[in-house]
Amino acid sequence: MPATLKLQREQIDALLRHYRHAPSPNAEPHVLTRIKREGLSVTVYKNGTVLFQGADALSDAAFFADAFNIAHPGASSTETTDYYLRSYGSDETGVGDYFGPLVVACAYVTPNDKSWLEKLGVRDSKTLSDETVKRIAPVLVERVPYSLVVLDPPSYNAQTSRGFNAHKLKAYLHAQTHKKLRSRVKAKAPIIVDQFCDAAHYARYVKDFKDAPVPDIFKTKAESHYASVAVASIIARYRFLTKLDDLGKTYGVVLPKGASKAVDDAAAQFIQDHGIDALKQVAKLHFKTTDKAKENLLSR
Ligand code: MN
Repeated sequence: MPATLKLQREQIDALLRHYRHAPSPNAEPHVLTRIKREGLSVTVYKNGTVLFQGADALSDAAFFADAFNIAHPGASSTETTDYYLRSYGSDETGVGDYFGPLVVACAYVTPNDKSWLEKLGVRDSKTLSDETVKRIAPVLVERVPYSLVVLDPPSYNAQTSRGFNAHKLKAYLHAQTHKKLRSRVKAKAPIIVDQFCDAAHYARYVKDFKDAPVPDIFKTKAESHYASVAVASIIARYRFLTKLDDLGKTYGVVLPKGASKAVDDAAAQFIQDHGIDALKQVAKLHFKTTDKAKENLLSR
């Protein structure tokens, strides 16, 4: 397993002294030097990055991390963050799904929740199947304080046709869930938002939103770093799936998730069976899918 360290000039000198007996083949641009010995290859880049490869990679990198008193290379970002940090975390779902609502949930998690959340398998919520989401979400909503906003397709379409872009809508909904939950829980704790646009845009989007909570942590893939966001993402997905099922039942169809060729075909079929007005009730019309479905129908 390869390992990387970021070193200062004098640390690199020390490292080169350590390996002085190992032969170094010719280096390429960006590479200061490359050291090879049995079970180990060390590439020292001019920017101070040092890449250890081979069987001894981790142990040698760890040796230098100790010697220089810097972070160990094995420590991934997930391990270094405080996963069960007492926090309010929010995540959204349905953004990439043509059919169904846009849902944002916010959850309040504390270190006391660690053991039961672990047992439930909340980590890595992104990799959970729909079945698992449906099984564990009902347990989560019983035990974790949370808030939820569901923007059904008709409202979503009304907002986007009024010029609200999808990011601005998301920003509003995130802010809304945090505001709702904090007013109920009342605890002072960091606000974590799963990042979907840059921070400056987020601030601009919620500028007109009264008392919009300012995120303390605005981070991509936050659901892998914080349990509060992971729980929020599961609750949001659960609500999304339930809503999608319900919408389908209303029309006697199964509405597919995501946006794909299968979804284009389902949309065309839906228009043919129920008409374009009914489509407004179940789909996010601004997706290209809508035009593709219409073309699809014309060519039938
Ligand atoms: Mn997200």
